[in-house]
Amino acid sequence: MLHVVPAFSRIGEENAFAVLARAQALVAQGRDVINLGIGQPDMPTPAHVVEAGIKALRDGHHGYTPAVGILPLREAVARDIHRRHGVEVSPDSVMIVPGGKVTMFMAILMFGEPGAEILYPDPGFPIYRSMIEFTGATPVPVPIREENGFAFSAAETLALITPKTRLLIVNSPANPTGGVTPKAEIDALVKGLADHPDVAVLSDEIYGTMTYDGERHHSLLKYPEIRDRLVYLDGASKTYAMTGWRLGWSVWPKPLYDAARKLAVNAHSCVNAATQWAGIAALDGPQDCVAEMVAAFDRRRAIVVDGLNALPGVSCIAPKGAFYAFPNISRTGWKAKPLAATLLEEAGVAVIGGPDFGVHGEGYIRLSYANSAENIRRALARMETFLGARQPG
Ligand code: PLP
Repeated sequence: MLHVVPAFSRIGEENAFAVLARAQALVAQGRDVINLGIGQPDMPTPAHVVEAGIKALRDGHHGYTPAVGILPLREAVARDIHRRHGVEVSPDSVMIVPGGKVTMFMAILMFGEPGAEILYPDPGFPIYRSMIEFTGATPVPVPIREENGFAFSAAETLALITPKTRLLIVNSPANPTGGVTPKAEIDALVKGLADHPDVAVLSDEIYGTMTYDGERHHSLLKYPEIRDRLVYLDGASKTYAMTGWRLGWSVWPKPLYDAARKLAVNAHSCVNAATQWAGIAALDGPQDCVAEMVAAFDRRRAIVVDGLNALPGVSCIAPKGAFYAFPNISRTGWKAKPLAATLLEEAGVAVIGGPDFGVHGEGYIRLSYANSAENIRRALARMETFLGARQPG
């Protein structure tokens, strides 16, 4: 009998990957499935970025790099942060990691242990809670509410802090809701955090380039008063359509940087070298590819929101960021997970049930509109037929 440590009975996963596998299995059986489940841009990585990766391999970048990433890429990240947020960070505080997830993995490992409490958004990216539970820390959900436009509430967040709180995780623009937290609310959060100097903050800003309706993303990096306890998470997966390349980056306070570097040495050594060179091309190259992608998402967002609001029993507020819609389906009579499962099996539309993102996700489903306008229209038509004909099972 093998004795795997109990922590592994607590680790969770992302149901979006299970839905993707089921959707692919149905396609293999000859079914026509429209996948609005998975959260990745449907556009290819920009050609100049692909070329930079290929060139790096041809130029002989085959070996290990420093565990924290090559200096030219860390400098490019620092320039990107300055361009987008107007904030100076030292390349020596930037760490290159294999995807956005790795930063949250490291930060949660650093602060999670039995007896500690970690606050995280609910509904929110499922890996936050999974990793908190893995460490044995107590997960404390911060409710993310539709009536706040799916922004987090500073007051509600601060009220949940106790002497046991070690880490607060915030995410704006947010998965799965598309919520963007306004500057005033972030100001209020940072102000309140002055009373809790021992609480570290992980700010997941991986959708920071994707906002709509004139909404501006406001980075937590802009607050010097919390820089000594802020871990900033970003990466290329969403902004540059590079989910499979595995390229993320983080900014760490000085005392945590070396711990993160050691974790990298122990876990993955470094991000593959060609990907890092491609990352420089992405960050330093023309940014119109990003603007074009965001404009395409914006057009599809309108189709999704209008279409959802026309469905019986469904209402959807316009998401201000990322590429997800999070419609309220409670008046359809369906619970969210059975609705998602039945939509996939019977209507050939893959979406994710809100409870896969936390208990506060009941009554909602997540649709990714990183799919063609035509597919989104077809999916909405199928959902309309389904909801008109099929009673809750
Ligand atoms: N953070 C959020 C909020 C996400 O939605 C995702 C991916 O869906 C990630 C982080 C992880 O991104 P990556 O694929 O770069 O690990």
